[in-house]
Amino acid sequence: MSIVVQKYGGTSVASIDKIKSVAKKLIKRKESGYDLVVVVSAMGKTTDTLIEMAKKISDNPSKRELDMLLSTGEQMTSSLLAMALKDMGYDAIALTGFQAGIKTEDKHTKASILDIEIKKVRHHLKEDKIVIIAGFQGIDENGDITTLGRGGSDTTAVALAAKLDCPCEIYTDVEGIYGVDPRIYPNAKKLDYISYDEMLEMASLGAKVIETRAVELGSKYQVPIYIALNTGLVTGTYIKELNESMEKKVVTGLTASDDDLMVTINNVLYNTKNICYIFNRLGEMDINIDMISQTAPIHGYVNISFTAPKESKDLIIDLVQELKRKMREIKVDIQEDITKISVVGLGMRTQSGVAARLFKVFADNDIHFKQVTTSEIRISYTINTTDKEKAIVKIAEEFNM
Ligand code: ASP
Ligand code: MG
Repeated sequence: MSIVVQKYGGTSVASIDKIKSVAKKLIKRKESGYDLVVVVSAMGKTTDTLIEMAKKISDNPSKRELDMLLSTGEQMTSSLLAMALKDMGYDAIALTGFQAGIKTEDKHTKASILDIEIKKVRHHLKEDKIVIIAGFQGIDENGDITTLGRGGSDTTAVALAAKLDCPCEIYTDVEGIYGVDPRIYPNAKKLDYISYDEMLEMASLGAKVIETRAVELGSKYQVPIYIALNTGLVTGTYIKELNESMEKKVVTGLTASDDDLMVTINNVLYNTKNICYIFNRLGEMDINIDMISQTAPIHGYVNISFTAPKESKDLIIDLVQELKRKMREIKVDIQEDITKISVVGLGMRTQSGVAARLFKVFADNDIHFKQVTTSEIRISYTINTTDKEKAIVKIAEEFNM
Protein backbone atom coordinates (compact mmCIF):
# COMPACT_ATOMS: atom_id res chain seq x y z
CA MET A 1 0.00 0.00 0.00
CA SER A 2 1.17 3.54 -0.61
CA ILE A 3 1.88 5.70 2.36
CA VAL A 4 1.00 9.37 2.61
CA VAL A 5 1.81 11.88 5.33
CA GLN A 6 -0.87 14.48 5.90
CA LYS A 7 -0.62 17.53 8.11
CA TYR A 8 -3.54 19.51 9.51
CA GLY A 9 -2.76 22.97 10.85
CA GLY A 10 -4.32 24.74 13.81
CA THR A 11 -7.29 26.24 11.95
CA SER A 12 -8.20 22.83 10.46
CA VAL A 13 -8.53 21.29 13.93
CA ALA A 14 -9.74 24.35 15.82
CA SER A 15 -12.88 22.71 17.25
CA ILE A 16 -14.28 19.29 18.10
CA ASP A 17 -16.45 19.43 14.98
CA LYS A 18 -13.47 20.21 12.82
CA ILE A 19 -11.52 17.32 14.36
CA LYS A 20 -14.43 15.02 13.56
CA SER A 21 -14.55 16.21 9.99
CA VAL A 22 -10.79 15.64 9.62
CA ALA A 23 -11.41 12.09 10.89
CA LYS A 24 -14.02 11.55 8.18
CA LYS A 25 -11.63 12.78 5.51
CA LEU A 26 -8.94 10.43 6.79
CA ILE A 27 -11.32 7.49 6.61
CA LYS A 28 -12.16 8.26 2.99
CA ARG A 29 -8.49 8.34 2.13
CA LYS A 30 -7.82 5.16 4.06
CA GLU A 31 -10.66 3.44 2.19
CA SER A 32 -9.10 4.49 -1.12
CA GLY A 33 -6.12 2.33 -0.21
CA TYR A 34 -3.61 4.47 1.64
CA ASP A 35 -1.59 3.99 4.80
CA LEU A 36 -1.90 7.24 6.67
CA VAL A 37 0.50 9.10 8.90
CA VAL A 38 -1.14 12.27 10.16
CA VAL A 39 0.63 15.19 11.81
CA VAL A 40 -1.47 17.67 13.72
CA SER A 41 -0.96 21.14 15.14
CA ALA A 42 -2.45 22.47 18.34
CA MET A 43 -6.14 23.44 18.12
CA GLY A 44 -6.67 27.00 16.88
CA LYS A 45 -4.70 29.51 18.92
CA THR A 46 -3.83 27.05 21.70
CA THR A 47 -0.07 27.60 21.41
CA ASP A 48 -0.52 31.37 21.77
CA THR A 49 -2.74 30.84 24.81
CA LEU A 50 -0.18 28.56 26.44
CA ILE A 51 2.57 31.11 25.85
CA GLU A 52 0.42 33.83 27.39
CA MET A 53 -0.16 31.65 30.45
CA ALA A 54 3.57 31.08 30.85
CA LYS A 55 4.21 34.82 30.56
CA LYS A 56 1.71 35.45 33.35
CA ILE A 57 3.72 33.17 35.61
CA SER A 58 7.14 34.45 34.66
CA ASP A 59 8.69 37.21 32.54
CA ASN A 60 11.29 34.77 31.43
CA PRO A 61 9.87 31.26 31.62
CA SER A 62 12.32 28.38 31.65
CA LYS A 63 12.64 27.12 28.09
CA ARG A 64 12.68 23.49 29.12
CA GLU A 65 9.40 23.89 30.96
CA LEU A 66 7.99 25.99 28.13
CA ASP A 67 8.58 23.05 25.81
CA MET A 68 6.82 20.75 28.29
CA LEU A 69 3.89 23.14 28.21
CA LEU A 70 3.71 23.90 24.49
CA SER A 71 4.00 20.25 23.48
CA THR A 72 0.70 19.57 25.25
CA GLY A 73 -1.21 21.54 22.58
CA GLU A 74 -0.38 19.05 19.85
CA GLN A 75 -0.85 16.08 22.19
CA MET A 76 -4.37 17.22 22.83
CA THR A 77 -5.25 17.31 19.13
CA SER A 78 -3.58 13.99 18.35
CA SER A 79 -5.36 12.11 21.09
CA LEU A 80 -8.75 13.63 20.25
CA LEU A 81 -8.34 12.80 16.57
CA ALA A 82 -7.34 9.19 17.34
CA MET A 83 -10.39 8.88 19.63
CA ALA A 84 -12.65 10.23 16.88
CA LEU A 85 -11.30 7.67 14.41
CA LYS A 86 -11.74 4.78 16.82
CA ASP A 87 -15.23 5.93 17.55
CA MET A 88 -15.96 5.78 13.82
CA GLY A 89 -14.71 2.21 13.76
CA TYR A 90 -11.16 2.69 12.48
CA ASP A 91 -8.04 1.73 14.34
CA ALA A 92 -5.73 4.63 15.13
CA ILE A 93 -2.98 5.50 17.55
CA ALA A 94 -1.86 8.88 18.83
CA LEU A 95 1.87 9.36 19.42
CA THR A 96 3.92 12.13 20.97
CA GLY A 97 7.08 13.18 19.14
CA PHE A 98 9.04 10.97 21.50
CA GLN A 99 6.83 7.94 20.90
CA ALA A 100 7.17 8.50 17.16
CA GLY A 101 10.98 8.38 17.50
CA ILE A 102 11.61 12.02 16.60
CA LYS A 103 15.06 12.92 17.90
CA THR A 104 16.15 16.53 18.07
CA GLU A 105 19.01 18.69 19.26
CA ASP A 106 18.81 19.87 22.85
CA LYS A 107 17.88 23.43 21.89
CA HIS A 108 14.67 24.18 23.71
CA THR A 109 11.94 26.09 21.82
CA LYS A 110 13.83 25.93 18.51
CA ALA A 111 15.31 22.47 18.10
CA SER A 112 16.07 20.88 14.74
CA ILE A 113 15.19 17.29 14.00
CA LEU A 114 18.31 15.12 13.95
CA ASP A 115 16.75 11.82 12.98
CA ILE A 116 13.58 9.80 13.20
CA GLU A 117 13.58 6.21 14.37
CA ILE A 118 11.00 5.41 11.75
CA LYS A 119 10.54 1.73 12.58
CA LYS A 120 8.17 2.75 15.36
CA VAL A 121 5.78 4.40 12.90
CA ARG A 122 6.20 1.59 10.39
CA HIS A 123 5.32 -0.93 13.08
CA HIS A 124 1.99 0.79 13.76
CA LEU A 125 1.27 1.09 10.04
CA LYS A 126 1.82 -2.67 9.71
CA GLU A 127 -0.87 -3.15 12.34
CA ASP A 128 -3.11 -1.25 9.95
CA LYS A 129 -3.47 1.71 12.27
CA ILE A 130 -3.87 5.32 11.23
CA VAL A 131 -0.89 6.90 12.96
CA ILE A 132 -1.51 10.35 14.41
CA ILE A 133 1.59 12.24 15.47
CA ALA A 134 1.81 15.38 17.58
CA GLY A 135 3.60 17.92 15.41
CA PHE A 136 6.25 20.46 16.40
CA GLN A 137 7.95 18.29 19.05
CA GLY A 138 10.64 15.74 19.66
CA ILE A 139 12.98 14.41 22.29
CA ASP A 140 16.61 15.34 22.90
CA GLU A 141 19.46 13.10 24.01
CA ASN A 142 18.70 13.83 27.67
CA GLY A 143 15.17 12.56 27.24
CA ASP A 144 13.71 16.06 27.49
CA ILE A 145 10.81 17.19 25.33
CA THR A 146 11.78 19.83 22.79
CA THR A 147 9.77 21.92 20.34
CA LEU A 148 10.80 22.95 16.85
CA GLY A 149 9.92 26.64 16.77
CA ARG A 150 6.65 28.28 15.70
CA GLY A 151 5.04 26.66 12.71
CA GLY A 152 7.17 23.56 13.29
CA SER A 153 4.47 21.00 12.53
CA ASP A 154 5.12 21.51 8.81
CA THR A 155 8.68 20.40 9.43
CA THR A 156 7.55 17.36 11.42
CA ALA A 157 5.35 16.31 8.50
CA VAL A 158 7.96 16.77 5.79
CA ALA A 159 10.63 15.04 7.89
CA LEU A 160 8.37 12.02 8.36
CA ALA A 161 7.59 11.94 4.63
CA ALA A 162 11.32 12.07 3.87
CA LYS A 163 11.93 9.09 6.17
CA LEU A 164 8.97 7.15 4.81
CA ASP A 165 9.90 8.11 1.24
CA CYS A 166 6.39 9.26 0.46
CA PRO A 167 4.57 12.48 -0.47
CA CYS A 168 3.46 15.04 2.11
CA GLU A 169 0.11 16.83 2.00
CA ILE A 170 -0.41 19.95 4.05
CA TYR A 171 -4.00 20.99 4.68
CA THR A 172 -4.58 24.52 5.74
CA ASP A 173 -6.98 27.45 5.49
CA VAL A 174 -5.80 28.72 2.10
CA GLU A 175 -6.56 27.18 -1.27
CA GLY A 176 -2.94 26.76 -2.24
CA ILE A 177 -0.20 29.09 -3.36
CA TYR A 178 -0.91 32.16 -5.43
CA GLY A 179 1.70 33.91 -7.50
CA VAL A 180 0.49 37.20 -6.09
CA ASP A 181 -1.63 38.11 -3.08
CA PRO A 182 -5.30 37.87 -4.18
CA ARG A 183 -6.27 40.46 -1.59
CA ILE A 184 -4.28 43.04 -3.54
CA TYR A 185 -4.78 41.57 -7.03
CA PRO A 186 -8.18 39.85 -7.12
CA ASN A 187 -7.51 38.26 -10.54
CA ALA A 188 -4.56 36.32 -9.12
CA LYS A 189 -4.32 32.75 -10.35
CA LYS A 190 -3.57 29.84 -8.09
CA LEU A 191 -0.43 27.98 -9.08
CA ASP A 192 -0.66 24.29 -9.95
CA TYR A 193 3.06 23.83 -9.36
CA ILE A 194 5.91 25.74 -7.87
CA SER A 195 9.51 24.59 -7.51
CA TYR A 196 11.23 24.31 -4.14
CA ASP A 197 13.61 27.12 -5.09
CA GLU A 198 10.82 29.48 -6.08
CA MET A 199 8.87 28.64 -2.95
CA LEU A 200 11.91 29.27 -0.78
CA GLU A 201 12.48 32.65 -2.39
CA MET A 202 8.82 33.49 -1.88
CA ALA A 203 8.64 32.14 1.66
CA SER A 204 11.62 34.10 2.84
CA LEU A 205 10.08 37.18 1.23
CA GLY A 206 6.98 36.93 3.28
CA ALA A 207 4.56 34.46 1.68
CA LYS A 208 3.64 32.71 4.90
CA VAL A 209 1.78 29.62 3.72
CA ILE A 210 4.33 27.00 4.75
CA GLU A 211 7.29 27.08 7.09
CA THR A 212 10.54 27.74 5.23
CA ARG A 213 12.41 24.95 7.00
CA ALA A 214 9.85 22.45 5.77
CA VAL A 215 10.43 23.51 2.16
CA GLU A 216 14.20 23.29 2.63
CA LEU A 217 13.82 19.79 3.97
CA GLY A 218 11.48 18.87 1.14
CA SER A 219 14.01 20.11 -1.37
CA LYS A 220 16.88 18.26 0.30
CA TYR A 221 15.07 14.93 0.35
CA GLN A 222 12.95 15.55 -2.74
CA VAL A 223 9.65 15.15 -0.91
CA PRO A 224 6.74 16.31 -3.08
CA ILE A 225 4.64 18.67 -0.97
CA TYR A 226 1.01 19.38 -1.74
CA ILE A 227 -0.67 22.38 -0.11
CA ALA A 228 -4.44 22.58 -0.20
CA LEU A 229 -7.54 23.78 1.57
CA ASN A 230 -8.59 21.52 4.44
CA THR A 231 -11.96 20.74 2.83
CA GLY A 232 -10.07 18.78 0.18
CA LEU A 233 -12.61 20.08 -2.35
CA VAL A 234 -10.37 22.37 -4.39
CA THR A 235 -7.14 21.47 -6.09
CA GLY A 236 -4.15 22.95 -4.32
CA THR A 237 -0.54 23.56 -5.28
CA TYR A 238 2.34 21.10 -5.60
CA ILE A 239 5.77 22.13 -4.45
CA LYS A 240 8.28 19.91 -6.20
CA GLU A 241 11.37 19.80 -8.37
CA LEU A 242 10.60 21.47 -11.68
CA ASN A 243 12.70 22.22 -14.67
CA GLU A 244 12.30 25.30 -16.81
CA SER A 245 10.72 23.45 -19.68
CA MET A 246 7.82 22.38 -17.48
CA GLU A 247 7.20 25.95 -16.48
CA LYS A 248 6.42 28.09 -19.48
CA LYS A 249 6.09 31.16 -17.32
CA VAL A 250 9.03 33.46 -16.74
CA VAL A 251 7.61 34.88 -13.56
CA THR A 252 5.89 32.61 -11.04
CA GLY A 253 5.54 34.80 -8.01
CA LEU A 254 5.44 38.38 -6.87
CA THR A 255 5.84 39.28 -3.23
CA ALA A 256 6.00 42.46 -1.24
CA SER A 257 7.45 42.96 2.19
CA ASP A 258 7.21 45.97 4.48
CA ASP A 259 9.47 44.43 7.09
CA ASP A 260 12.61 46.33 6.22
CA LEU A 261 13.82 49.87 6.55
CA MET A 262 16.43 51.55 4.42
CA VAL A 263 19.49 53.24 5.82
CA THR A 264 21.47 55.66 3.68
CA ILE A 265 24.84 56.85 4.86
CA ASN A 266 25.80 59.90 2.84
CA ASN A 267 29.26 61.37 2.53
CA VAL A 268 31.36 58.33 3.35
CA LEU A 269 35.03 58.89 2.57
CA TYR A 270 35.65 56.47 -0.27
CA ASN A 271 38.21 53.94 0.82
CA THR A 272 37.81 50.21 1.24
CA LYS A 273 38.76 50.25 4.91
CA ASN A 274 36.02 52.68 5.79
CA ILE A 275 33.34 50.77 3.95
CA CYS A 276 34.60 47.48 5.30
CA TYR A 277 34.38 48.89 8.80
CA ILE A 278 30.69 49.76 8.40
CA PHE A 279 29.73 46.33 7.15
CA ASN A 280 31.91 44.60 9.71
CA ARG A 281 30.17 46.42 12.53
CA LEU A 282 26.77 45.53 11.04
CA GLY A 283 27.84 41.89 11.05
CA GLU A 284 29.20 42.04 14.59
CA MET A 285 25.95 43.58 15.80
CA ASP A 286 24.01 40.81 14.14
CA ILE A 287 22.09 43.20 11.91
CA ASN A 288 20.91 41.15 8.99
CA ILE A 289 21.27 43.42 5.99
CA ASP A 290 19.77 42.62 2.65
CA MET A 291 20.01 45.01 -0.28
CA ILE A 292 23.11 47.15 -0.63
CA SER A 293 23.84 49.94 -3.04
CA GLN A 294 26.59 52.50 -3.38
CA THR A 295 26.90 55.58 -5.56
CA ALA A 296 29.95 56.25 -7.73
CA PRO A 297 32.57 58.30 -5.85
CA ILE A 298 32.29 62.07 -6.26
CA HIS A 299 35.24 64.09 -5.00
CA GLY A 300 36.31 61.08 -3.00
CA TYR A 301 32.98 60.49 -1.25
CA VAL A 302 30.18 57.94 -1.75
CA ASN A 303 26.69 57.32 -0.41
CA ILE A 304 25.91 53.82 0.81
CA SER A 305 22.42 52.41 1.30
CA PHE A 306 21.30 49.13 2.75
CA THR A 307 18.08 47.59 3.98
CA ALA A 308 17.69 45.78 7.30
CA PRO A 309 14.76 44.45 9.34
CA LYS A 310 12.72 47.13 11.12
CA GLU A 311 13.22 45.06 14.28
CA SER A 312 16.88 46.06 14.23
CA LYS A 313 16.11 49.78 14.30
CA ASP A 314 17.42 50.37 17.83
CA LEU A 315 20.66 48.60 17.05
CA ILE A 316 21.02 50.63 13.87
CA ILE A 317 20.54 53.89 15.76
CA ASP A 318 23.29 52.81 18.18
CA LEU A 319 25.55 52.00 15.27
CA VAL A 320 24.83 55.33 13.57
CA GLN A 321 25.91 57.17 16.76
CA GLU A 322 29.07 55.13 16.83
CA LEU A 323 29.81 55.79 13.15
CA LYS A 324 29.23 59.52 13.53
CA ARG A 325 31.90 59.65 16.21
CA LYS A 326 34.35 57.92 13.89
CA MET A 327 33.43 59.49 10.56
CA ARG A 328 32.43 63.01 11.39
CA GLU A 329 31.30 64.15 7.95
CA ILE A 330 28.65 61.44 7.37
CA LYS A 331 24.93 62.18 7.26
CA VAL A 332 22.52 59.35 7.91
CA ASP A 333 18.96 58.97 6.75
CA ILE A 334 16.68 56.15 7.90
CA GLN A 335 13.57 55.56 5.81
CA GLU A 336 10.86 53.30 7.18
CA ASP A 337 8.12 53.67 4.60
CA ILE A 338 9.72 51.43 2.03
CA THR A 339 8.55 48.17 0.50
CA LYS A 340 10.57 45.46 -1.11
CA ILE A 341 8.88 44.07 -4.20
CA SER A 342 10.31 40.89 -5.68
CA VAL A 343 9.48 38.84 -8.72
CA VAL A 344 10.52 35.20 -8.67
CA GLY A 345 10.67 32.72 -11.51
CA LEU A 346 12.73 29.73 -12.59
CA GLY A 347 12.29 30.87 -16.17
CA MET A 348 14.62 33.80 -15.49
CA ARG A 349 17.52 31.38 -15.56
CA THR A 350 17.12 30.97 -19.27
CA GLN A 351 14.99 33.85 -20.50
CA SER A 352 16.22 37.38 -20.65
CA GLY A 353 14.30 40.63 -20.68
CA VAL A 354 12.44 40.31 -17.38
CA ALA A 355 14.28 43.26 -15.87
CA ALA A 356 13.59 45.32 -19.00
CA ARG A 357 9.86 44.63 -18.74
CA LEU A 358 9.88 45.57 -15.07
CA PHE A 359 11.74 48.81 -15.71
CA LYS A 360 9.12 49.64 -18.31
CA VAL A 361 6.27 48.96 -15.87
CA PHE A 362 7.92 51.30 -13.38
CA ALA A 363 8.57 54.00 -15.97
CA ASP A 364 5.07 53.84 -17.49
CA ASN A 365 3.45 54.11 -14.08
CA ASP A 366 5.72 56.68 -12.55
CA ILE A 367 6.99 54.37 -9.81
CA HIS A 368 10.41 55.27 -8.52
CA PHE A 369 12.69 52.63 -7.14
CA LYS A 370 15.65 53.11 -4.90
CA GLN A 371 17.54 49.86 -5.16
CA VAL A 372 17.60 46.75 -7.30
CA THR A 373 19.14 43.38 -6.55
CA THR A 374 19.00 40.15 -8.47
CA SER A 375 19.63 36.48 -7.89
CA GLU A 376 19.44 33.75 -10.48
CA ILE A 377 15.68 33.46 -10.14
CA ARG A 378 14.67 36.71 -8.45
CA ILE A 379 14.70 40.47 -9.00
CA SER A 380 13.92 42.76 -6.06
CA TYR A 381 13.25 46.48 -5.92
CA THR A 382 12.82 48.87 -3.02
CA ILE A 383 10.06 51.35 -3.61
CA ASN A 384 8.02 53.80 -1.53
CA THR A 385 5.27 51.99 0.35
CA THR A 386 2.77 54.44 -1.13
CA ASP A 387 3.44 52.89 -4.57
CA LYS A 388 3.09 49.31 -3.35
CA GLU A 389 -0.39 48.43 -4.55
CA LYS A 390 0.05 50.13 -7.88
CA ALA A 391 3.32 48.28 -8.46
CA ILE A 392 1.81 44.90 -7.57
CA VAL A 393 -1.20 45.33 -9.83
CA LYS A 394 0.80 46.61 -12.79
CA ILE A 395 3.46 43.91 -12.55
CA ALA A 396 0.83 41.18 -12.12
CA GLU A 397 -0.92 42.45 -15.24
CA GLU A 398 2.29 42.60 -17.22
CA PHE A 399 3.17 38.99 -16.42
CA ASN A 400 -0.39 37.65 -16.48
CA MET A 401 -0.08 36.26 -12.96
N1 ASP B 1 1.35 24.84 17.33
C1 ASP B 1 2.63 25.37 16.90
C2 ASP B 1 2.49 26.84 16.56
O1 ASP B 1 1.43 27.40 16.68
C3 ASP B 1 3.22 24.57 15.78
C4 ASP B 1 2.46 24.57 14.50
O2 ASP B 1 1.28 24.88 14.46
O3 ASP B 1 3.05 24.22 13.47
O4 ASP B 1 3.46 27.45 16.17
MG1 MG C 1 1.51 26.87 10.16
